Amino acid sequence: MTDLLLTWFKEHGRNLPWRQARSPYRVLVAETMLQQTRVETVIPYYQRWMRRFPSLAELASASFDDVLKCWEGLGYYRRARYLHQTAQLLMKDHQGRLPRDYRTLLTLPGVGSYTAAALSSLVFDEPYVAVDGNLKRIASRLFTVAGQVTSNEVTRRLEPYLPATQPGAFNEALMDLGATVCIPKRPVCSECPLTSRCQAFLTGQTEAFPQKTSGRKIPRRTRYGLIHIAAKDIWLERRSHNEMLAGLWGFVQVQNRPVTGIILQDVHHTYTHFKLRLIPVIVPSDDPVLNRSRAVRIPLTKLTELAFSVLDRKILALLEQSKYLTTDNREPSPVSARIAAPT
Ligand code: SF4
Repeated sequence: MTDLLLTWFKEHGRNLPWRQARSPYRVLVAETMLQQTRVETVIPYYQRWMRRFPSLAELASASFDDVLKCWEGLGYYRRARYLHQTAQLLMKDHQGRLPRDYRTLLTLPGVGSYTAAALSSLVFDEPYVAVDGNLKRIASRLFTVAGQVTSNEVTRRLEPYLPATQPGAFNEALMDLGATVCIPKRPVCSECPLTSRCQAFLTGQTEAFPQKTSGRKIPRRTRYGLIHIAAKDIWLERRSHNEMLAGLWGFVQVQNRPVTGIILQDVHHTYTHFKLRLIPVIVPSDDPVLNRSRAVRIPLTKLTELAFSVLDRKILALLEQSKYLTTDNREPSPVSARIAAPT
């Protein structure tokens, strides 16, 4: 199986930017960005990141605000903080080098078993299986694994096939196969090098694997986003370090509907654990909740320098499309309407 896979990879492997000039730092950045994020999404962020922070030393000495701004829009912002912390730790305690030992890699901020295995195999040629969603799906089909496929199960099944040299290429080949051929729906088996080894293919069950587990229903939440704009300033708060979206700027979110204000069109976002419906409300300056919040007055001219979550960016876009926020910082209309009940 290994030879079939590696031959296929030589001919059909994707030409990804972090594979062109392989360096421990580049692999670290790419593998951190790739956690829970698709390759196509990561590529432009990776390229921008490398222009802004071309070396570990430059990342370590950057301010966290700069790091966050460069990560803005990629989501799972904790990864940006961990990457920054890791860069600083490597410069301080490891002479700017990535430790070779798998266990030591696991002690770095935000480095879990997937990233440690990817770094070990890609940078140091150590025999670790880097289990991501692609590998889980392929393993479930190759070995017709019943029920939920765990990382341990995938490692146990694939470890015997790891080549003695270039185990990283083995991992990358499986990742590429999962992204381009053994895709979630309707795998393109006619282009797969592993048909002769694949139990699901040989038994005509490729659509049945991975087996479905009873799906967890994602809870829905509704919140109100408080907006106040006066003269050339807007009221925003910075998410604290123990909150979701730590370090990002955004509108104050509250559970209860403000007493007065103008309701704008609601915006939606799906996070890992819940779906959020956020109803933006333009509130007056004496809104008691806004006044008790951590919101501070920020000049509108500074908006482009701050990092926002995707959801808060949606609200800013909404404000820009409306009369409330303009590039010439026009005064907003007075707020007087009573709030209508949200639909
Ligand atoms: S033969 Fe089909 S189902 Fe099996 S690994 Fe290849 S693409 Fe996936």
